[in-house]
Amino acid sequence: MAYLQLQGIEKFFGEHRAIKGVDLTIEKGEFIVFVGPSGCGKSTLLRLIAGLEQIDGGQLVLDGRDITHAPSSKRDLAMVFQSYALYPHMSVFENMSFALKLAKEDPAVIREKVERAAKILNLTQYLERTPKALSGGQRQRVAIGRAIVRAPKVFLFDEPLSNLDAALRGQTRVEIAKLHRDLGATTIYVTHDQVEAMTLADRIVVLRDGLIEQVGTPLELYDRPANQFVAQFIGSPQMNVVEGRHLPQVAGVPAGGFVGLRPEDVTLQPAAQAGAGGLPGTVELVESLGAETLIYVTVDSGAQLVSRQPVRSGLHNGDRVGVFVEAANAHRFDAQGRAARV
Ligand code: ATP
Repeated sequence: MAYLQLQGIEKFFGEHRAIKGVDLTIEKGEFIVFVGPSGCGKSTLLRLIAGLEQIDGGQLVLDGRDITHAPSSKRDLAMVFQSYALYPHMSVFENMSFALKLAKEDPAVIREKVERAAKILNLTQYLERTPKALSGGQRQRVAIGRAIVRAPKVFLFDEPLSNLDAALRGQTRVEIAKLHRDLGATTIYVTHDQVEAMTLADRIVVLRDGLIEQVGTPLELYDRPANQFVAQFIGSPQMNVVEGRHLPQVAGVPAGGFVGLRPEDVTLQPAAQAGAGGLPGTVELVESLGAETLIYVTVDSGAQLVSRQPVRSGLHNGDRVGVFVEAANAHRFDAQGRAARV
């Protein structure tokens, strides 16, 4: 049975319909990630679930209970914000125990719960410090700890790592993944970070303009996007999508339709070695990322493609190349951008 169920959820800001009837079923223990372009409604949907915004239409059911209009404090959810939202004058211990104290829990039980959460999050040695004496990553762990001690039915995360630098973001992401593995808590996580979405999610929900475009496991979305929008939203650098006429070697493209190719399915050879098989093109830009190289190329027909190669290519700006595509891995879209199955 569904643990958290969204049925026809609607939200208006004045005349603006920000969430347009969202249906979604989440199972107990799932890690769900909301992604989508800026302004698509990810945070609003999370805030509606949290009870921080009023739901204007539809129904929200958690563990068999209709919580559509329940106050936030009565929903048994815990939210972790981008900004941490810690109390600056309280110690880490007091921050983490605050909700339990309000709920009039026994002090001995509070201490035990906070100490257990602190241990999980490697915060034991910081319990007496105030937030200002902590790094950004440690503060975010305190914010997560504050959510854990409440043992809520659902954890809600709103871009929790976006204030951290790249290294710490990676580290904290791994900690969140481990935490989910160990606690198995139902989690909804908003991000615009591809890597967070792909690595953390059991299922990703792709939103666009207040509606769900597709829901699926990371690899389902990567391998079988329902449409061009999802295809280009999931994966970095984004999937190449060009008019079918540019890639005659890909069969089965609907009239007026498009071909999509992941950058790893485009390979390049120096023109002198390419022979007759490749499409002639010119290298526009070579980006070396160390372990891999991204090469931007313009095919003579005008199509622009990016190729991802796991090696140092030896190619340079302006080089003439032959472009080879892995037609077996090509995606086909009709003129409206919907995936066409062959
Ligand atoms: P981002 O990735 O930029 O945070 P988002 O996908 O989280 O974007 P939301 O913040 O949910 O998007 O906003 C969805 C839409 O609702 C946007 O058009 C936004 O301008 C609008 N919106 C959000 N909050 C309010 C508000 N309090 N009042 C009016 N409009 C709002």
